[in-house]
Amino acid sequence: MSDLTAVIESGMCIGCGVCEVTPQPVSLVLDRDTLTFTPSAPGGPEAASVCPAISVDYKRLHDYVFPGAEVGPFGVVQSVHLTQSTTRDRNVNASSGGIIKEILRLLIETGEVDGVIALDHVDGIEFAARLVTEVDDVDSLPGSIYHNLAQTPALRILQETPGRFALVAIPCQLEGLYSYVEKFRPDLKERIGFTVGLLCGWQYSHHSIEAMGEYLGYSSSNVADVSYRGGGPVGKFSVTTRDGNTFSASRRVDFGYQVAFDRHFNTPRCHLCVNHGNFLADLAVGDAWLPSTVFTKTGISLVICRTSKAERLHSKLIEMSRCVSIEVTEEEIRESQTSRVVFGEFAYAYAEFRRKEGLHTPALHGPNQHEGSRRPTREVKRFHRELVRKQRLMAQRKYRLLRWRKATLELPKFVKRYVRWFLVRVVRIKSISGARNEIPRSRFEDFR
Ligand SMILES: Cc1cc2nc3c(=O)[nH]c(=O)nc-3n(C[C@H](O)[C@H](O)[C@H](O)COP(=O)(O)OP(=O)(O)OC[C@H]3O[C@@H](n4cnc5c(N)ncnc54)[C@H](O)[C@@H]3O)c2cc1C
Repeated sequence: MSDLTAVIESGMCIGCGVCEVTPQPVSLVLDRDTLTFTPSAPGGPEAASVCPAISVDYKRLHDYVFPGAEVGPFGVVQSVHLTQSTTRDRNVNASSGGIIKEILRLLIETGEVDGVIALDHVDGIEFAARLVTEVDDVDSLPGSIYHNLAQTPALRILQETPGRFALVAIPCQLEGLYSYVEKFRPDLKERIGFTVGLLCGWQYSHHSIEAMGEYLGYSSSNVADVSYRGGGPVGKFSVTTRDGNTFSASRRVDFGYQVAFDRHFNTPRCHLCVNHGNFLADLAVGDAWLPSTVFTKTGISLVICRTSKAERLHSKLIEMSRCVSIEVTEEEIRESQTSRVVFGEFAYAYAEFRRKEGLHTPALHGPNQHEGSRRPTREVKRFHRELVRKQRLMAQRKYRLLRWRKATLELPKFVKRYVRWFLVRVVRIKSISGARNEIPRSRFEDFR
């Protein structure tokens, strides 16, 4: 493509920020209808050639990042683990098991990198990457931030600061970054000392925060800080306003949260994403959403080591008793995250539908494209129809109407989701029916 026109018109930008640093740069701005970041202008062919909302060449990037490694349906996998920090506060404050902070601390402490580039709070709902060089600063970094952000500061720090760094990033951020580095700045590759990737199912437009303001009673212009996790495996959505009040909602049971963080509020490209497992990260971390880990009150991480360096650092944390861990199989990735997302069952089907409709669709063909079973066309069509309708209501700020829809029209689907969660995670229906062997509780005796 010659520029970013199709990305702007389709709202497919994910905010990775590469178009802000390529030749003929553009700026990312928040679109007032979609409340997601988008390029301010079409730019030129340079930006288009590395934009993940146009295409991602997974085969080429795998060869570039992990030369010679075998790539399977879960990407490059050396080993899979369930891991938890042994420092209680770090574990409780983290989004899942606290392994990311443990790895970052170890990397700085041992001098393996000169610093860590990771997301931090700036002001209000603004978060941006910053350079952390002191071990004690690592714990001040936030847990998972689920709303759409402009991720350019990470790239700028990497470009402008001499040294070798570790980077924490979501999958599409690494797709953009490595495409850019390969094409325009190959000298930066050796300065990326290590990457910690977050598993990622989706991010949300700022409509989610606006809608929660209407349901909980805060004004989004008055928000001083926001957090989504911490305090246990699921955690709370919590907003602090400038006048010192706190508004919070359970992420699992609050009805308003289920409306405002429904998947129709996602940035549109997330529906087409096939890289849930963060293929390009040395070490990828997510939540261990498994029947065998339901017992935890503090959270356990699912860890995929994609390189021997990741394995070495992970093992070192266990040897030093900073983490406890058990090794598991790739099947636990699939069960924890579902085939729908790890194999892109919905995403590939939705991409096919969009192409047939003549809608701009990023070319995303990952190593998982022949796995799982694609979702039926009728499901995809229904989803698209509902998405278009709800995006219109969001642009009109009709958040109360969206809540009413969820409580009426969408109620059966909503109830079905809870029943499924209860049957699979709590009743362990798959083990009872012989479809799956759960990890025995005795293997978790060192976990809390
Ligand atoms: C948008 C998003 C979607 C996710 N979706 C899933 C999912 O579908 N399934 C799943 O299992 N896990 C998902 N995760 C990952 C999960 O929420 C936890 O972040 C992960 O388990 C790591 O937990 P931890 O306890 O080790 O790290 P923590 O101690 O919580 O540390 C989090 C680290 O991530 C960095 N960070 C937080 N938010 C962002 C962001 N938006 N962009 C870049 N860096 C960030 C922080 O700087 C910090 O270094 C998602 C995370 C994000 C940000």
